[in-house]
Amino acid sequence: MSQQLPNPQVPSNWFVDPVFLGVPGVRRDEEDNPLAWQADALCAQTDPEAFFPEKGGSTREAKRICDGCEVRSECLDYALENDERFGIWGGLSERERRKLRREAI
Ligand code: SF4
Repeated sequence: MSQQLPNPQVPSNWFVDPVFLGVPGVRRDEEDNPLAWQADALCAQTDPEAFFPEKGGSTREAKRICDGCEVRSECLDYALENDERFGIWGGLSERERRKLRREAI
């Protein structure tokens, strides 16, 4: 039986640990944990592969999930502040985030 290796493009800070983050809707102090918003991340209940597709893969499903996520702006802010290079964050692909960053300069 073959064991599936984790996608190396999925960053360790994307993984949502419900024990560490706590109960959805009950945020911990964001000063203590800059990832506290992930407690309410809709993608926590989905397959991370959709958010980190192989090159040329579809991002439509991930973006659809982001559309309904209540922490979308926190997620996008975090990705921009931390220069996240891979995957969908806050409903935007890496290319869309680069464009947004260029436009902000
Ligand atoms: S905006 Fe998208 S990537 Fe960010 S937490 Fe919500 S569902 Fe996840």
